[in-house]
Amino acid sequence: MQMLASTDRGIVRTWAGKSDLQSSVARNGGRVAVLASGGLDSCVLLACVAEIASEVHPLFVRNGHPWEDAELAALRRFVEALGCSQLRPVAESSMPVRDVLDAHWGARGYHPGFSQGYRANFIPGRNLALLSAASLFAFVHGTGALALGLLDGNPYPDASPQFFSAFETLFAEGMGRTLEILTPFARLSKEEVVRIGNGLPLELSLSCVSPIDGQHCGDGCNKCAERQKAFALAGIPDPTRYRNPPPRVDWKTHKWQD
Ligand SMILES: [Zn+2]
Repeated sequence: MQMLASTDRGIVRTWAGKSDLQSSVARNGGRVAVLASGGLDSCVLLACVAEIASEVHPLFVRNGHPWEDAELAALRRFVEALGCSQLRPVAESSMPVRDVLDAHWGARGYHPGFSQGYRANFIPGRNLALLSAASLFAFVHGTGALALGLLDGNPYPDASPQFFSAFETLFAEGMGRTLEILTPFARLSKEEVVRIGNGLPLELSLSCVSPIDGQHCGDGCNKCAERQKAFALAGIPDPTRYRNPPPRVDWKTHKWQD
């Protein structure tokens, strides 16, 4: 039987990796910056960190993508609903790189379809760009730890332990101070994250790269597909309001194309 722990208004289930996170937070004086996108993973991570830390600084970084307004609105709604006194107001930073990425994608554009897999979802330099802004944010706010909601099975080259270790070294060289990059969900699947956050207002989070009037598209992007699959595999009813009805998929037997 799992134990439940309470934040001010949210419920977080115990999870593998919590004790490591507690040690990391303690090493850094209870103060942590969290790179947050408003998606499922980073919203649950925020609640998990807030349960442990005394001071949590959520940061949303804009890279110039068209879905960011909807994401940021979702993140603000989630943080407000959590009503957790350890959570500082959501900060916003801008590091626009979309023009460079559009030059990379060219006429193909970036449209990861509902049935496409990880490869279609790949955004070159995603973590490099996000960490560049977020690490500076951590420096300015004097936080020695920066957490992000990376999951198990992330195949991209800037999501490996080696990359994060190298980034820590680069930061120390360039900033004259250490920064610990925390990836406490790195051994968890998305459905495990859904289970951990089952007592939280997950319906307020947003994981969609084709939002319609701020809502999940439901049937047009891979992020919506990943979200639906995670709830299905977790065995938890999906509370998300989708603009379009999700396609019927047997997620238990489903395999991504790549
Ligand atoms: Zn979508």
